[in-house]
Amino acid sequence: MSLENILTDWSRYRKGLEQGGFHDYEHMWGMVIDLNKCTGCGACVVACYAENNLPVVGKDRFDDGHAMHWLRIERYWDEPDLGEGRVAEYQHLGASFLPMLCQQCNAATCEPVCPVAATYHTPDGLNAQVYNRCIGSRYCSNNCPYRLRYFNFFSYYESSWPAPLHMQLNPDLSVRDKGVMEKCTFCVQRIRAAKDKAKMQDRQVIDGEVQPACVQTCPTSAMTFGDILDLHSPGKGVENTEATALWRKHQVQLHKAKQVKQDPEMRGYRVFEGLNTDPKVLFLERVREV
Ligand code: SF4
Ligand code: SF4
Repeated sequence: MSLENILTDWSRYRKGLEQGGFHDYEHMWGMVIDLNKCTGCGACVVACYAENNLPVVGKDRFDDGHAMHWLRIERYWDEPDLGEGRVAEYQHLGASFLPMLCQQCNAATCEPVCPVAATYHTPDGLNAQVYNRCIGSRYCSNNCPYRLRYFNFFSYYESSWPAPLHMQLNPDLSVRDKGVMEKCTFCVQRIRAAKDKAKMQDRQVIDGEVQPACVQTCPTSAMTFGDILDLHSPGKGVENTEATALWRKHQVQLHKAKQVKQDPEMRGYRVFEGLNTDPKVLFLERVREV
């Protein structure tokens, strides 16, 4: 589709066929993160760096606001209420962890503000970024309510991967240069490889055949990934992926800004759901005895 078409009919471009849009979704990749299982170890973050050729910017540049990490672990401390304005001397319950990566919103607020349509929706339901079209306006970053887009302030080649470390770079995707925006892609290079292989064998992608690096690496299996298209279109896509089963089990519906659950004890929720960004990352709330 040409850039002109995208700009003249943006809203239709971003919708599926059933909603009057241009394309029929082939897949809709989604994730479930069980916060009961996440220990905050950070293995997923390291895997993301290695898989996606992320530059390590160092402490000074991080302090200057030039952080580069497509996946971050947010840490929250419980503050026990002891009553009468008293607070505990130490947080004996420890921290809670929340892995945050691009939520791959179906109604992504980062997309319509891009002046050159460098960020767009794919027929896989992914929020994609065309690096060589990006002019670095950073409007998408401003408009992402989750703060999950990162700007390349520098060319990091020599400082991040001095020889022989450049030999460890993943050849399946590019190293981004200064002046462009980047973010988590759900490891789109792995998705493409799995889809191509399935197409060659004239079959659908099988559940578990494709996993982003973070999901593959998580030692506690807190992350689950799959095609959640069949939540709304039974018979299309891959049926009953583990991720889809969890979306169903926890009664969380796509295309809704507010969930109506038969069972209020269900743990599933999406971050900032009320903003109507329709994220495709489902979190399972952490439950513990207090
Ligand atoms: S989380 Fe932010 S960057 Fe990702 S699709 Fe949503 S609005 Fe865009
Ligand atoms: S690898 Fe798994 S357990 Fe460790 S921080 Fe990431 S999601 Fe949590």
